[in-house]
Amino acid sequence: MTHALWLRGDLRLADHAGFAKLAKLVESSVAFFNLDPGLRRSLTPHKREYLMAALADLDVQLEGRLTLFALDPATQLPALLASRGITTVYTHTSVGPGIRRRLNATSKALQDFGIVVEPLDTPYLLPPGTLSTKDSTPNSNNLGYRVYTPFFRAWRPLALATRPIETPSSLRLQCLARNFEPKAEVGRGGESIAHADLARFVNDRRSRYPTERDLPSRQSTSGLSAHLHFGTLHPRTIIASIGPDDEKFLSELAWRDFYADVLYRNPDAVDNELDIRFRSIQWRQAGDNPDLLGAWQLGRTGYPIVDAGMRELRATHLMHNRVRMITASFLVKDLHFDWRIGARYFEEQLLDGDLASNRMNWQWVAGTGTDAAPYFRVFNPTLQSKKFDPDGSYIRRWIPELASLSSDKIHAPSDHLDPTTLGYVTPIVNHRVERLDALARYANAKDNL
Ligand code: FAD
Repeated sequence: MTHALWLRGDLRLADHAGFAKLAKLVESSVAFFNLDPGLRRSLTPHKREYLMAALADLDVQLEGRLTLFALDPATQLPALLASRGITTVYTHTSVGPGIRRRLNATSKALQDFGIVVEPLDTPYLLPPGTLSTKDSTPNSNNLGYRVYTPFFRAWRPLALATRPIETPSSLRLQCLARNFEPKAEVGRGGESIAHADLARFVNDRRSRYPTERDLPSRQSTSGLSAHLHFGTLHPRTIIASIGPDDEKFLSELAWRDFYADVLYRNPDAVDNELDIRFRSIQWRQAGDNPDLLGAWQLGRTGYPIVDAGMRELRATHLMHNRVRMITASFLVKDLHFDWRIGARYFEEQLLDGDLASNRMNWQWVAGTGTDAAPYFRVFNPTLQSKKFDPDGSYIRRWIPELASLSSDKIHAPSDHLDPTTLGYVTPIVNHRVERLDALARYANAKDNL
């Protein structure tokens, strides 16, 4: 046995370049997942639950032959693999700078034991770094697109031409060890659920998607983001099951690829404003006003659409995209907190929390990223609420205190009554005042350049 597949964010059997490669080998091989100490520490409980369910699902499909290590990747893994005669390890490419650093360190440690790490495939339709702009200058080392629309135009034909990789009918796998057992009984995660969710989208929701995707009360979006994050579903599989009329949905998958490409080429963007004009903005830090920050986190700002979103997040570990935009904008432009604080909180809470999608979307909202919303466009939470939750049913679902209010009162209850009499809160800030404060902060930062 000389070949191993190192599973990380690609916990599936279908449409998997690594398993297809192993299926072609004459000799037996090993497929392993390593719950290394760093990963174990950083996993939030809901992500851990998904991960365990996904491993259990995959193990069933592999007839109990999934190898499960809990080893230090640099000091323990290489010796163990070498002792079993492994000389080649396949794994996929990641985009986050931290993961790439750790992967490089492990690859070097494996090389010292004569083991070659061969990257196969990525979790995206096009590998990040593939598309380059035509107007790049000869000495530029960053030829990536900075604007989404031209990226989409170049990406679209290539993405549509991708085809799922055939699922192997049989594999000669050996199980080397089990340092832990995945929990089969927990829900939500895994390849089988991912495929069921994809079928539900294609059969029930897809036709409504273009007109209803922005309405949080309607369950019209795919709900596939966590599956894409854990790699229980590859976007190639999704593309193969949608049609040429699904342009809007295709364009959302393109945002995922776009942000991965941007982060891959600009690893500093995890923590730094891509638009350097805004690096000197005077943001509030967490300690500056813990009460305001806590009110946002707990869904007690007095702006019902913001509070409904933040309560949905804590209850389900997901949040509708439109409401992610509204709540993020409120933190940055109404409460003036550093967008990184919001991004980190989302990463703690979200089941689909993903470095590239999350950080780049936060930068979009803050107006500091590529192709960002202009900094002077400040979402008015009440108008957003009236437009995207017109009858207030999303608010009623998450804020039971307001359930008795009619749709003309529910978006701004304090304009009509004292909300504390319902057990709700009065607005913690005045949007009109804070909008001007936000504009001044941005203008100051630009002027100081
Ligand atoms: P659908 O509308 O069905 O879209 C299909 C897929 O397209 C999604 O599953 C996702 O993979 C991709 N997609 C859709 N919109 C976006 C987008 N704006 N950016 C990148 N990819 C997109 N998405 C994450 O997957 N992880 C995150 O951590 C994350 N953080 C976000 C933070 C903020 C502040 C904002 C505004 C958006 C964030 N998004 C994130 C994007 C988006 O909100 C979610 O992908 C979407 O809500 C997931 O629901 P869905 O699968 O039903 O989406």
